[in-house]
Amino acid sequence: MARDNKVDDVVILGGGVCGLYAARRLTAEGFSVSVVEKESFLGGLAAGIKIGQNFYDQGVHMLHEHDREIYEDCMAMMGDESVSVELKARIRWQGRFYRYPLQFGDMIKGMPPLTLGRAVAGLFLAQIRNKVAPWEPRNCEEALIQLYGRALYHYFFEDFTHRYWGRHPSRISAMFVKRKMPRLTAVDAIKKLLGHIGLREKGGRAVESALLSETLHYSATGSEALPRCIAERVRKDGARFFTNSSVRSIKVEDGRIRSVNIFNSQTGRRRTLPCKHVISTIPVTTLVDSLRPHVNGDIMDSCNYLQWLPIAIYGLLVKKDKVMDALYTYYRHRVFHRVGEPKNAGLKVTPEGHTVLIVEMTCQEGDEKWTGTDEMRSRVVSDLEKEGICREEDIVEMNLIRNRYAYPVFSLGYEPHYEKLMSCLAGIENLQSIGRQGGFTFPGMHSAMRMGASAADQILNNQMSNK
Ligand SMILES: Cc1cc2nc3c(=O)[nH]c(=O)nc-3n(C[C@H](O)[C@H](O)[C@H](O)COP(=O)(O)OP(=O)(O)OC[C@H]3O[C@@H](n4cnc5c(N)ncnc54)[C@H](O)[C@@H]3O)c2cc1C
Repeated sequence: MARDNKVDDVVILGGGVCGLYAARRLTAEGFSVSVVEKESFLGGLAAGIKIGQNFYDQGVHMLHEHDREIYEDCMAMMGDESVSVELKARIRWQGRFYRYPLQFGDMIKGMPPLTLGRAVAGLFLAQIRNKVAPWEPRNCEEALIQLYGRALYHYFFEDFTHRYWGRHPSRISAMFVKRKMPRLTAVDAIKKLLGHIGLREKGGRAVESALLSETLHYSATGSEALPRCIAERVRKDGARFFTNSSVRSIKVEDGRIRSVNIFNSQTGRRRTLPCKHVISTIPVTTLVDSLRPHVNGDIMDSCNYLQWLPIAIYGLLVKKDKVMDALYTYYRHRVFHRVGEPKNAGLKVTPEGHTVLIVEMTCQEGDEKWTGTDEMRSRVVSDLEKEGICREEDIVEMNLIRNRYAYPVFSLGYEPHYEKLMSCLAGIENLQSIGRQGGFTFPGMHSAMRMGASAADQILNNQMSNK
């Protein structure tokens, strides 16, 4: 086993945008950094996969401008590779297209009058109940009813949430609504009205949804450009990258990590990386596993309560110049839940006269979507045809891309187990577990990079105060 004589200031586990941005911050300040990535490529979920002559995103990925500091730094690193594009997203619902994020006015237009009456009455009742007798929802179903009322929940959320997450909302934690669910403007409208008559309630909010109108950032090679540009800068600034390398074990002594042991799946070689600090962005459960025997069986049991929802994506090369009006469209009653046409955001597609479609489906590991059975392919093609997107004879390539760790699942009762894991990790002085997988949360790329920057800042500040 190779042992580095060099002691890194920081070893970063995982080369997604969170880990890469932590490396960016640290190397810019002259810190020595090693990044360990299990895949042959960097970028994690944001990496584009090159198949033939085209790049396929793992679900169309565009950078938001919300975090100005990170956005400006990314733009500087990407230079003229960045392409700005106005958000144009749609929801297909009840046979019509609506703007995404869904607006209250659009929703009204799509509802039969009786259902609409029930939905508005339900919303009012829910808001008044929250004000007069506040209550704590026990699961996602109750949290959605609390937020939107019973009628709207049954009409709009119940079935889609069930199909998307592969479990009924009553089996999902209420926390999911706070952390992940986009907020409908309807609630704001009702709250405003209630505010005028002195009935505004506190708390119980879902997260802000995407803005209706905003500029997104992409590239001619798709989402792969952003992580590639960050990695190039970080490499120039002296970072070492260990790709095809997964974390095997982590040595902890006196409450501090001393070294990380990694295994290269291509060469079969093991290597020990001594270090002063570790920033981990790999799934928190994998991290805990590699900390054995430092962690006990009780903590290992808690890992079983933290699950991820995988995603299966068909990257299609289609012999048509353009097939959709929007950048992407959400579908509520198809085998896929979203279809994106990244060419509309500036993706260069080869050969000319062709386009690429990114067809997204959440799934379970090992199911038909995950394995990509012939039957599943036929269902996808058939639904694309039914939606008038493309015909079977236009499809030149149909590539299945999968990611096991797409979405953390806030299953019912996961919270104490999550807390237990996190407080166990907090007991290791020089370790931070962050990002989508390390924090078990749902950031956009900008928020994942912000987590990386903050973790780096914590190390930089410690160093300053120890001088
Ligand atoms: C379908 C989909 C679409 C999305 N679209 C957008 C969008 O348009 N805009 C946006 O801002 N955000 C989007 N996001 C969110 C965005 O992908 C993530 O927030 C961001 O990429 C998370 O980065 P990360 O570095 O925290 O995690 P990851 O990208 O998951 O990185 C973790 C890395 O750790 C590596 N790793 C795992 N285990 C090990 C191990 N044992 N050893 C070494 N390495 C390991 C993985 O290979 C991976 O590279 C989307 C997410 C999904 C699922």
